Amino acid sequence: MNKTLTIRVTKASQSRLESTNFDALAFGQIISDHMFVAEYEDGAWQNLRVEPYGPMQINPANATLHYGQSVFEGLKAYRNEAGELLVFRGDANQRRLNESAARMCIPEVPEEVFMEGMRKLLEVDREWVPRQPGCSLYIRPFIFAADDYLGIRPSRKYTFMILTSPVGKYYAKPVAVKVETQYARAIEGGTGSAKAAGNYAGSLFPALKAQKEGYDQLLWTDGKTHQYIEESGTMNVMFVINGTLITAPTTTGTILKGITRDSVLILAREMGFPVEERFLPVRELEESLLSGTLEEAFGTGTAATVAFIHLINIHGKDYLLPEKSTNAFSDRILKTLDDIKYGKVADERGWIM
Ligand code: PMP
Repeated sequence: MNKTLTIRVTKASQSRLESTNFDALAFGQIISDHMFVAEYEDGAWQNLRVEPYGPMQINPANATLHYGQSVFEGLKAYRNEAGELLVFRGDANQRRLNESAARMCIPEVPEEVFMEGMRKLLEVDREWVPRQPGCSLYIRPFIFAADDYLGIRPSRKYTFMILTSPVGKYYAKPVAVKVETQYARAIEGGTGSAKAAGNYAGSLFPALKAQKEGYDQLLWTDGKTHQYIEESGTMNVMFVINGTLITAPTTTGTILKGITRDSVLILAREMGFPVEERFLPVRELEESLLSGTLEEAFGTGTAATVAFIHLINIHGKDYLLPEKSTNAFSDRILKTLDDIKYGKVADERGWIM
């Protein structure tokens, strides 16, 4: 670690811990007492600090407000039985943040600024990591343009911040999804593989439309032909067809390289479970539902870990998935991942900080 890295800490005069109900945590509603902040100016990240969470001053000409030059990450800290805090694959999130940043002309955040900033913030707000089973502390690092300038060009100044938020289980119930064949989330050559703010703004309208029709999430298809499944909402999506795990590859730049996705694939291969990284045609998905060869479908992501899918709408027709078997892959993988995240099993893969 660079010895010159100093992080100033200013504590909140009053904690909101006492007034927070940890038994009724919804996703993203409560932000912990403190936040980490660093500013990029003159080619360097400086003024590293942990300070009370609260409103910040922003000029109406701020470039992010107009052009969305902004990227973010999402990861979690878990508490083990000994009360220690465990962060799952934070190094992978740090790398992905910088990959997203590169696509949006945002300067990268050095590993030590990310890691030490997060470590210091967690140290100060350690009591915010829930003790309730299945709960965790969601960590939201993000970078945004800080120039006050209405011309379109990469900003010269940026702000990097980390917020944290205690969360419960994301999707308690299995979800109903609709195959989207009109709107696109991403297209080759676009920004789909970056965790860029605008990707999420653009997906709101089609997602809301599906929700009004009674579906929880969309199954995004490729932006060009709409014939192949890409991902689901803010999750990667996986199918078990005839005993083989199938998920889209991340080589086209249209799909976010999910860290949960990568973890599931690593664990599946270790288990000897057959894996195919290939684009699943919507037609094949429909045929597998008709013939009963589709055994399981689920989304993977930090928020939910594994979100079971119980219904898929294809071209206006609802298909119910079969009941999961007692030895379902998705149940096993969820348990394995949770055991690793909550430190119930040895960290053989170096995934825990
Ligand atoms: N796809 C999209 C579009 C996402 O926003 C997310 C959430 N980061 C994922 C997939 C899942 O990624 P991860 O497993 O790293 O949370």
